[in-house]
Amino acid sequence: MSEKIHWADVYAAAVRKGIAHRIATGITPSGPIHIGNMREVITGDLVYKAMRDSGSPAELLYIADDFDPLRKVYPFLPPEYEAYIGRPLCDIPCPCGQCANYAEHYLRPFLNALAELDVHPTVIRASKQYRNGAYTDEIRAVLENASVIRDILERISKRTLPADWSPYYPICARCGRIINVPVRDHDQERHTVRYTCPCGWEGESDYSRGEGKLVWRVDWPMRWAHFGVTVEPFGKDHAAAGGSYDTGKEIVARVFGAEAPHPVMYEWISLKGRGAMASSTGVAVTIDAMLEIVPPDVLRYLIARSKPEKAIDFDPGMGLLTLIDEFDRIAQSGDSREYELSRISSATDSIPFRHMVTVVQIATDIEGIFPVLERSGYDISDRVALAKQAERARIWLDRYAPDMVKFQVQETLPAEVFGFNEEEKIAIAAVLSALTALSAWDAEHLHNAVYMAGEETGINPKKIFTALYLALLGQKRGPRLGFFLEALGRTFVVNRLLETVNAGAE
Ligand SMILES: [Zn+2]
Ligand SMILES: [Zn+2]
Repeated sequence: MSEKIHWADVYAAAVRKGIAHRIATGITPSGPIHIGNMREVITGDLVYKAMRDSGSPAELLYIADDFDPLRKVYPFLPPEYEAYIGRPLCDIPCPCGQCANYAEHYLRPFLNALAELDVHPTVIRASKQYRNGAYTDEIRAVLENASVIRDILERISKRTLPADWSPYYPICARCGRIINVPVRDHDQERHTVRYTCPCGWEGESDYSRGEGKLVWRVDWPMRWAHFGVTVEPFGKDHAAAGGSYDTGKEIVARVFGAEAPHPVMYEWISLKGRGAMASSTGVAVTIDAMLEIVPPDVLRYLIARSKPEKAIDFDPGMGLLTLIDEFDRIAQSGDSREYELSRISSATDSIPFRHMVTVVQIATDIEGIFPVLERSGYDISDRVALAKQAERARIWLDRYAPDMVKFQVQETLPAEVFGFNEEEKIAIAAVLSALTALSAWDAEHLHNAVYMAGEETGINPKKIFTALYLALLGQKRGPRLGFFLEALGRTFVVNRLLETVNAGAE
């Protein structure tokens, strides 16, 4: 163990001992789930695992807010969805036509991603809870205490609510919308209230059958009481003074005689140069898109390595490459708590990502990666796993990689070679003779041989590197030379240098 205590262990140590803990997380499945959303669940999972490691019995919950209304027609939705605004997500048709409803359409890939990320919460759907009558007693208590709750909200959040304000929103039996209207005639026996919808409908709402839902600021503390939540990560918007955590804390005490969970406040993840991630604005990298490139343990590591209250500026280009390098490094160091909390044993890649990025650019197709890897001394028996890794590197190159890491090995002698000056010609000839003399064709020896050529000729190694890249790639820079020459193989490199020397002689 390193000396610095990991933040998840700090949280695990801060909670009350001797009780069973419940860590709640939640996301509204109203659009594609992006890695910004993942911070909530992975943060919860990291604390959960830290608690488990410290011997505290704990359970991780994921509550899907599929009973929330659709708020607007997001940029990724067809205009017809205008008609569904205000309806619960679980009652809206799914965009692809293959899923049970709108919420499930976004939940399904998210739950798959969670499994891949080694997060295994108890999944609870808000719609089922409401419609099974699980919250009947709590909603009754809320309606009976409506004026108490109203006072708390007005005092703590410093806003004014109408005198007939209701913490319970009925779902109109005619138009299907969740409506913010006053309710009347609360019948505790029959668990009903009466309402008048702006659409003109007058009806009765039975809260034991999910014919309405609590407003968010009340729904949240209600859940704390119902599930006995003791720890909960939430975004900084809820943590603001007078925000929903502050009001929830008092509501849960006054109305339910329970305690608010230990808060784990987290900051946003933003996309480098584009601002905070949100599906509703289109500034986001979806979790699916990310898992196509990055092994799941690296994604866990992205969240684990920063304290929750620190903002993360995510760069899917060079930044991602650096992140993966860093993860590989701590994986090798063997005593990192961050690694322990991030690691998913089944998912460890056998080839460093940076190297794979070079390999897929040398190989012309997926079959071509195997001889290249073999030349670099890798075990290529698990071809399926290697092909998957290669695919990740390929997608990263296509979508996110900056030009500086891209190259193409030239099949014929690049035109640049014919313009070589005397010094460059000497350099190439010296490298050729050094390489020909090598008994072992591996990265370290190759690297040293190039430097030796520099010493012998008195030419700056930098200039030699440039000449070599020009002869092989037709550009002035390329991947780390030793590994690159090793991967290209002796035959190709020696032939190309011979051709280069001969071209100079003409
Ligand atoms: Zn669907
Ligand atoms: Zn209506």
